[in-house]
Order: sequence, then C-alpha cells, then structure tokens
Amino acid sequence: MKTIGLLGGMSWESTALYYKKINEEIKEQLGGLHSAKIVLYSVDFEEIEKLQHLGKWDETAKILSNAAKNLENASADFIVICTNTMHKVASIIEQNINIPILHIANATGKKLQEEGIKKVGLLGTAFTMNQEFYKDTISNNFDIEVIVPNDDDIQIIHKIIYEQLCLGIIKEESKKQYLRIMQKLHNQGAEGIILGCTEIGMLICQEDTNIKLFDTTHIHALEAVKEALK
Ligand code: GLU
Repeated sequence: MKTIGLLGGMSWESTALYYKKINEEIKEQLGGLHSAKIVLYSVDFEEIEKLQHLGKWDETAKILSNAAKNLENASADFIVICTNTMHKVASIIEQNINIPILHIANATGKKLQEEGIKKVGLLGTAFTMNQEFYKDTISNNFDIEVIVPNDDDIQIIHKIIYEQLCLGIIKEESKKQYLRIMQKLHNQGAEGIILGCTEIGMLICQEDTNIKLFDTTHIHALEAVKEALK
C-alpha cells in the first residue's frame, strides 16, 4: 500500500472527512484491521484565507509547497490537496516536489465522464466558480461544459462556505439557498452538480435532491484509495 500525503486544514472540517472516508474505503476493500497509510500536514487556514482574499496566491503557493515538501520527506508517495480552491496553485506546488499531486478536478472529471455527463453545474468558492483554473481542467480534459450561478448567487455560496461551513456551522436556511441555486443550474441544462468545495457535503447530500450530485471530497478520497492500492 502506498502512503497518502494529505495536505489539509483548508478547512480542518473537510480534512477530517477525507481522513474518515479514506480509512472507511480501505477497511471496505481490504477488511480486517486494515487502515490507510497517511501522513497529514495541516496548515492554519486563517493565514491561507487572508492571503486568498488579498489575491496573494504566490504566498499561498509558498506555504503549500513547503507543506508538500514536508509530506514528501515524511515518505508520502503522492499528495492529495484537500481543497478545490487551492488547486489554483497546484502546478506551482508540483514544481517544488518530486512526487505527484492527485488533482481533484481530474478525479471529478473522470467520474463525470464515467456517468456520461456532458453539461454540469459547479458550486464552490467564488475563486473556483469565477476563475478558469478549475472549470478549464474539467472542460479541456474531459470535454464537459461547466456552468456556474449568477454573480449574486456566487456571493451567497461563497459567504456560506467561509462564514459557516468552514466553521462547522450548518444552517437549514443555507441548505435552502444551495438547493435553490442548484435547481436553477439544473433548469439551465446541468445534468449534475459538482459540489466543488470540500465542505459542501456537510450541508447537502444526495438524499436532499433528485439532481445527480458529485461530491468532490468523496470522489477525491476514493481516487486516493485507488491510487494507494495500485
Ligand atoms: N475547502 C474549500 C474548497 O474546497 C474552501 C476552502 C479553501 O478556500 O481552500 O475549495
């Protein structure tokens, strides 16, 4: 079994989900007392979040590259960055290490393709929804059209992520907002919705809607297990 290097803490709420999901899947596949070989480097999200909102992405890349190097030195065979947003700097991190990064958008694109999805809605932070780094990976590598909510709805989703979900706060009103926005994307032709922020699965699950959901935390964690057992 390979050792998974989790680059987490963004937020720790979702990193905990990765840890649990990966171990559950290893147990499911190998049985007995098997558990995943994991090294975790968890950053202080307050620092990262400040730099994100100041647009200082180079500085976030430095912090995460240093964390990834530490994971490599601690014998990780590959890196799993436990956030969609910070894949904005994945290629810079990759240049600073000698082990691969298991890219969350590629794992998600693969899953969408397997399910025959041609047009998908994307929910995530404003960075993920507005900028090209994530949408382009899905559309260029997998030939899938990605649509996002309008500007007002992007702000609503973004605010709920940083002011509630990353703090472990789950509100019924927020769930209603997300479901409303998801329905709008569905009405615009989205055959499924990417939960493209690793905390959204804490608020919305498949039982809440008939629209097919793609939870990036689960998809990424399962892909990590697949890679670890290769
Ligand atoms: N975990 C979130 C994501 O998947 C948001 C936190 C962050 O900005 O990294 O994008």
